[in-house]
Amino acid sequence: MIIDGKMISQSLKDAMKIEVDALAEQYGRRPCLMVIIVGDNPASRSYVRGKIKATEYCGFDGHLVELPEDVSEATLLAEIDKLNNDPLVDGILVQLPLPKHISEDKVIAAISAEKDVDGFHPENVARLWLNQHCILPCTPKGIIELLDQAGVEMAGKKAVVIGRSNIVGKPVAKLLLDRNATVTIAHSRTKDLAAVCREADILVAAVGRAKMVTAEYVKPGAAVIDVGINRTEDGKLVGDVDYEAVLPVAGAITPVPGGVGPMTITMLMRNTIECFLNRMNNK
Ligand code: NAD
Repeated sequence: MIIDGKMISQSLKDAMKIEVDALAEQYGRRPCLMVIIVGDNPASRSYVRGKIKATEYCGFDGHLVELPEDVSEATLLAEIDKLNNDPLVDGILVQLPLPKHISEDKVIAAISAEKDVDGFHPENVARLWLNQHCILPCTPKGIIELLDQAGVEMAGKKAVVIGRSNIVGKPVAKLLLDRNATVTIAHSRTKDLAAVCREADILVAAVGRAKMVTAEYVKPGAAVIDVGINRTEDGKLVGDVDYEAVLPVAGAITPVPGGVGPMTITMLMRNTIECFLNRMNNK
């Protein structure tokens, strides 16, 4: 089974569009997402375009704040502070990576935790690991949603996550654990990675190396979630999984493009609605 992230994402966005119209009626305004981009990095520009497009599609308020590559850290922090204090702003996102002269840690911590739609603020990360109410990071949240939509049972299953980054690997592992999977986190120092992966009923690859996961990594019938985004020499977008080789072995698989990627943006929309509701109901 191919898990069609694009289609699932579209139907979730259609439902949110209707929900947002109802929220506007009920609360007298729409959820508002502000996206900040620094500089002209083409990949960042493309991601941001997708986020703004989804914002418009779902009927949110908000817009893009564009700052030049040489903007000072102080100016960026002042811009964030302004948005933190704006009662009509529900979500703030600063597109990463930032230029070297700006501390990403400082910027992430400067965004008010209640408006942190990316779920990267240390307070939200801590709350996730403490099982407290928090804003979940978008890509991990999207992966769990994809597994749910595809009817993949997580409870009691063995899951292997390849990659231990703070934004994908670790939080995905925590969310799978919360769904009662038994989780192994593999990484660049894992010995005999293929054998470790072959144990998995659910295999999540979040590495950033094209076609690294071959058929020998996959237990027949396993659900394979490909988070990787890589460009081949001829500019083609591919994941971490050798899709053609793994497709006949896997029980379910996400394609790249059209799998996890669209879900990440859709979960950003979901988080914006959740931030809006938290703020409106805690006033
Ligand atoms: P990262 O570079 O921070 O982490 C990569 C991880 O892979 C590390 O923990 C490292 O230990 C592990 N690793 C590296 N080489 C390995 C090897 N040979 N064997 C086993 N493990 C190895 O990357 P990240 O931010 O977690 O992103 C991972 C991939 O997911 C990237 O391709 C990124 O572009 C993509 N990504 C996609 C989305 C999406 O929305 N689809 C979102 C975020 C990241």
